[in-house]
Amino acid sequence: MTNNYPVNNIYTCIQGEGVQTGVAMVLVRLHGCAVGCPWCDTKETWAFAPADERPTLPEVMGQNGRFTWADSATIAAYIAQHHPGPRWVLLTGGEPADYRLDTLVKTLHEKGYQVAIETSGTALGHVTAACDWVCVSPKIGMPGGKQVLAEAVASADEIKHVVGKAADIDQLDHLIATMPLKHTAVICLQPISQSRKATDLCIETVQSRGWRLSIQMHKYIGVE
Ligand code: SF4
Repeated sequence: MTNNYPVNNIYTCIQGEGVQTGVAMVLVRLHGCAVGCPWCDTKETWAFAPADERPTLPEVMGQNGRFTWADSATIAAYIAQHHPGPRWVLLTGGEPADYRLDTLVKTLHEKGYQVAIETSGTALGHVTAACDWVCVSPKIGMPGGKQVLAEAVASADEIKHVVGKAADIDQLDHLIATMPLKHTAVICLQPISQSRKATDLCIETVQSRGWRLSIQMHKYIGVE
């Protein structure tokens, strides 16, 4: 079982998106993603440049392309020492589900944390891990050519869809019509890049469908 994870960053945050908006969390950003979303705001995580590899966690912290390989006990100990407040850990990326997360989630549970994950739906490394909250933000038709997987969609407690135009809602409609979904899954629409036009479209759609609006609160209150 995998117990070696490429860590790009760890910091305390306020979850700014989706159902868990407002919850203080320790964000663990794993390195690596091949999905290629044009609007990605963590492009520094995409490539594993040998020059960016470091031997320890403290050497990679901050918004940069550096990463280090660490086991679950080392990650949990770093969180406990440097980010003692939150009781939730948020696994994100990059694409955290590119890695088998069972051991990391188990270790964090043993330390008393609840674990949430945000994934693009193109990988399955989280499906056998007992995450407490799974948010799938399906990245459909992105330049990297990765497919959204039915098993990933079926694992979602929350589907969070980034919307720029009406066609993006059509894509989501097609996805949820053709893939299994938990009956309790919450569907959130998130306007792309705080666009007014996209925000209006999301408001109109969530009101007519009974869905939920996600507005990237952290960008409005000026925190990461
Ligand atoms: S899946 Fe996430 S990390 Fe990967 S390119 Fe898209 S937005 Fe960026």
